[in-house]
Parts: sequence; structure tokens; C-alpha cells
Amino acid sequence: MKKSLFKFDPEVFEIAVSDLTRQQNYLTLIPSENFASHAVMQAQSTVFANKYAEGYPTARYYNGCDHSDQIEQLAIDRAKALFSAEHVNVQPHSGSQANLAVFHALLSPGDVVLSMKLDHGGHLSHGLPQNFSGKYYDIVHYGLDPETERINLETVSQLAQKHKPNLIIVGASAYPREIDFAPWREIADSVGAYLLGDVAHIAGLIVGGVHPSPVPYCDVVTTTTHKTLRGPRGAIIMCRQELADDIDKSVFPGLQGGPFMHAIAARAVAFKEAAQPEFADYQKQVVTNADALSSRLTRNGFRLVTGGTDNHLMLIDLTSVSEKLSGRQAANYLEDAGIIVNKNTIPFDSRSANTTSGIRIGTPMITSRGMKEKEMVQVADLITETIENRRRPSARQQVKTKVEKLCRSFPIYEGIDQLLWS
Ligand SMILES: *Cc1c(COP(=O)(O)O)cnc(C)c1O
Repeated sequence: MKKSLFKFDPEVFEIAVSDLTRQQNYLTLIPSENFASHAVMQAQSTVFANKYAEGYPTARYYNGCDHSDQIEQLAIDRAKALFSAEHVNVQPHSGSQANLAVFHALLSPGDVVLSMKLDHGGHLSHGLPQNFSGKYYDIVHYGLDPETERINLETVSQLAQKHKPNLIIVGASAYPREIDFAPWREIADSVGAYLLGDVAHIAGLIVGGVHPSPVPYCDVVTTTTHKTLRGPRGAIIMCRQELADDIDKSVFPGLQGGPFMHAIAARAVAFKEAAQPEFADYQKQVVTNADALSSRLTRNGFRLVTGGTDNHLMLIDLTSVSEKLSGRQAANYLEDAGIIVNKNTIPFDSRSANTTSGIRIGTPMITSRGMKEKEMVQVADLITETIENRRRPSARQQVKTKVEKLCRSFPIYEGIDQLLWS
């Protein structure tokens, strides 16, 4: 029982260390990734991982839950303060689970849901045919305006009038522009629909004051805790008090059994971190960096969807490089050069989600490493060098050497040895 991971299971240990090395030596530009603090990681590996605590604070189906009650209540109180939310459920295991819980709480199978098209930036849990959302609900999608590549509220409003949805979802996984939530409330009210704000990507920006909050306008708001919010993997659901019971019952016992108390402990720590002034500085820098990165990429000749970004992410339209270059190819070339991005469809893409004509990049992770505008110019130039010389493997190797040098100057964890084997 006393043997450390290193001693007992060197196989698992080695693989974990290898990924630590990868995270350290590669530039991760995936906008949904970040790295959680040492304190968050520590909280997540506490003995709360051993506890069953089905139910909610002071109303559990198991005994021995005093400390689980304390930790969950702390997480709830901190999340409520952070987002100025009336009610928060901190138990969902992931963002998709959180959305599923909202559907399950507010809708019946067959009800109409109006959400963003997946290949225009929406999420799987907003109606992909293979996903629960697409299987059990009648999904109607709004897309982006072909001229502006932005959401056209006029179109959303018309679709709402026509289809009379029971639920409207605002929020996306690949939308580079600010969302003003107020008009969405009006559209939802005009047809008597519930309004769900899914801010999985931008929750950190909202807390940091660099993006408007959906909380005053939406009936329910979901977010993951591991993207810009920089906590452990997981999600929370926020709602108005009158929906609290329905949401809570939908999560447990509706969909989940025992909550992951260790993850909830780590979420509590992340919410405390997010309430610090430094967190707002970080979020400002994420946006400043994204702006710097997008300007330089544009100067280097890439076309960005909507021409730039207001938030933490941007989409490169690779057809501006070559009609032949797909997102999948570009992402693989970049990985070879030490840069991790993900392929992503661009609005009105002629390629499938598996091939794509775009790549999605973002600044949360590299900003957590401490990089600023000056490094964004370097990062943009490294991407450009890789794509321009994509037919020469030696060029990718040269970029990789530069990437590793840059990464060494901005380590992801200090004192990492302790993190893994303390
Ligand atoms: C990431 C994301 C989710 C879901 O996250 P998982 O934790 O991966 O299930 C939900 N909605 C949006 C908009 C997202 O970007």
C-alpha cells in the first residue's frame, strides 16, 4: 500500500512523465486547454477521491459526509460569488454532462432546441445527430452570416419565430467574437423559450471582466471549469433560484450517482484563484495576446475568420494559403514542428469535420506560461514558417528547435517533481 506510483507502477509513471515533457516542450495553442495550478492538482489528489457523497450538502444518501458537505458548500459559495449567480450546482463531471442535465431538467424528448450549427462553431452537445442532444430533441440550427461570419440576430430571431423553440442555446466552441447576451433574452422571451448560455470557452474571460456575463440574461448558464477558467476538468451549472430544484434533481439522481468530491475540492480552489486580482490580469493578457497573435498572422498573409478576434481564440482559413491544404494536414505539420493546434471547420467549409479547411488556435495556455505580445509575434512567425515550408521536413525540425527554446524560457510548472510524486 505504501509504494509510490514510481515504485509500484513505473509503466504508468513513465507515460505520465512523458506527457509532462510533451506539455513542457510543445507550444499548445488549443483554445480549450490550459494548465491547472499546483494547488488545484493537489486538491484533486486528496482523499476526497475515496468518498461517496450522493445527494447535496446536508442531504446525503451516505454517512460520513461532514467534510464533503463543507467542501461542496465552499465550492458552491465561491462559484456563486464569482459569477453573481443565484444558484450553482458544482457536480457535473463535464461540460457535456452539464448540458445534458439542463436538457433533462427543462425539456421533454422531442422538444425544439435552437442552437448554433456545429460546423459554424457550435458544440457536440448542442445537437450533433449522434449525440444525445441530436437524438432525443428536435434541433434547429442558426449559422453565421455569410458576409460577416458573425451571428446574425435577425436570422436567429426569425428562426425562433418560425420554429418556436422550447430552449435557445447561446454559446460556442469556435466563435472568435464577443457575444452580447441581452438581445438573446428578448428573442427567448418573444417565443417563451428558456435561454441557456453555454460559456465553456469564455468563462474565465467573463470572470476576468473582459467579456460580458450571460448570468443576468439567461435562465441557465453552463460552463466547464478546465478551459479559460483554468481549474480541474469538470463543469458547473448556474441558474435562477426557481429552477434550482429542477437542475439539482436532474444532475442527481437524474444523471449521475456520486459526485467526484476530489474534483469538487479542486474546483473550490480554482474558484478562489479566479477571485484574485491576478486572475483578471491573466484574462486581460489572454485577450491582448490573442489580438497580437491575430494581427501578426494577418500581416503574415493568413486570412482569419471574421478578420480577427475579440476573445481568446481565432480561426485560420487555410484556403488563404492554398486550396489544397486541409486543416488536418496543417495541424499535423505543426505538431511535427512542436506546435499543437486543432483542425476546425470554417464557416461554409467545403470539407468535413474530419478534414476541415481551418485550424483553431488560442492563447489561454501560452498566456498561463507567462508569454506576452512579444512572444506572440514569435509564435505567429513559427506557425508561418512551418506552413510556408510544409513540404520540407528539415524546416519543421528547425522550427521545433526554436519552439523548444521558447518553451524552456516559459516552464509550465515550477517544482514539477513534487507535483507528480509527492
Ligand atoms: C468544451 C465545451 C463543452 C463540453 O465540454 P466537455 O467537458 O468536453 O464535455 C460544452 N460546450 C461548449 C460550448 C464547449 O466548448
